[in-house]
Amino acid sequence: MAELGQKHECPKCGVKYYDLGNADAKCPKCGVEEEAPDDGSKDDSEK
Ligand SMILES: [Zn+2]
Repeated sequence: MAELGQKHECPKCGVKYYDLGNADAKCPKCGVEEEAPDDGSKDDSEK
């Protein structure tokens, strides 16, 4: 199986792409980086 990595969807133009294993994948169409997923942990408590 080809290693396409994580699937992303550009928040700006909506194009779907794969990061190919790169953590800092950008949209191949408009170059916008996908925003980090908000896991809802807004508190500043340290772990
Ligand atoms: Zn885009």
